[in-house]
Amino acid sequence: TEFVTVSELATMMDKTPTDIIATLMGIGIFASINQRLDAETLAMVAEEYGFEVEWVSAELTETIPEEEDDPKDLEARPPIVTVMGHVDHGKTSLLDYIRTSDVTEGEAGGITQHIGAYSVTGESGRKITFLDTPGHEAFTAMRARGAQVTDIAIIIIAADDDVMPQTKEAINHAQAAGVPMVFAINKIDKPGANPDKVKEQLSGMNILVEDWGGKYQSQEISAKTGQGVEELLEKVLLEAEMLDLKANPNKNAIGTVIESTLDKGRGYVTTLLVEAGTLKVGDMIIAGTQLGRVKIMHDEHDQVVKEAGPAKPVSILGMQGASNAGDRFHVMTDEKEAKAIVNKRQQLQREQGLRTTKHITLDEIGRRL
Ligand code: GDP
Ligand code: MG
Repeated sequence: TEFVTVSELATMMDKTPTDIIATLMGIGIFASINQRLDAETLAMVAEEYGFEVEWVSAELTETIPEEEDDPKDLEARPPIVTVMGHVDHGKTSLLDYIRTSDVTEGEAGGITQHIGAYSVTGESGRKITFLDTPGHEAFTAMRARGAQVTDIAIIIIAADDDVMPQTKEAINHAQAAGVPMVFAINKIDKPGANPDKVKEQLSGMNILVEDWGGKYQSQEISAKTGQGVEELLEKVLLEAEMLDLKANPNKNAIGTVIESTLDKGRGYVTTLLVEAGTLKVGDMIIAGTQLGRVKIMHDEHDQVVKEAGPAKPVSILGMQGASNAGDRFHVMTDEKEAKAIVNKRQQLQREQGLRTTKHITLDEIGRRL
């Protein structure tokens, strides 16, 4: 992160920008007057002039404060689940099976629209939200942007194969993020399936599933025939119960961008996953560096919806640009403030893109001076 500019720093220390530029040059950094300096550089320059940098939690205008909820306002919400595992072990098949077999009351068929996430109802009537991008790439990309969207990870392992490198990676990612895992041992319809071998290999990684006396739930399934899938969903719901997931639905919505695409006819189509609060048609939102207003909202059944509460994925029209997967979104009430924040964010992004700081070698300095 960059903080103050060369000229701002000069003013603070009662020096001229030229002084600062010369000092920077001395440490091998060629900077312009309006360039922002990072923390390390700031500290070095300040020290040259006998100043010490004091960090106060600056009121950065681009940040949007999020208030803590009163516990009495919290209500149970569905879990958000990611499916991870080795290539060809059945991630896509499982997500497809769950998607197409969910025929909730009042809807003609299963899920009709691919919007990056969908919500299904288990046999017990409780809902689960699935992130519809299998694999840990999406998971890590979101985490890299500071978004922790997943509550529970399903680790899928083919019973006719071994615990593979990507399986181990997926387990590592889930563990690093502190996300509980439920194991789906897949392809049990296949003649060569050997679920016990998978469980044994897991135990070799210190992961003991329940029928091996451990704490991890596991379910033998076939993503092809659907055998065991309903049981798997119930186990996920059991895991969710233990997590006691709650959110306040009665406030302005906050959440995460799942995906954002440009549709020639309709403009920017942005899938949002509401984390807390309720998103409504007409709401003004900031998503990452983009401003917009919810003009129309669709769910994964391509039905128009007027509102979306916690853990509900919706695709919206009305953003002025493309946000990134993993960006946080906030509903804003003050248009002037919202515009100021977005301007500031876009400015910071541009500056980062145009960074001209060059760390050059002593040799090069010698040649320039
Ligand atoms: P992914 O790479 O993890 O997304 O795996 P896919 O879902 O694409 O599955 C890889 C292959 O395994 C495909 O040919 C699937 O049809 C097949 N497959 C997936 N699940 C099952 C299953 O439960 N039983 C059988 N027999 N085949 C399966
Ligand atoms: Mg796949």
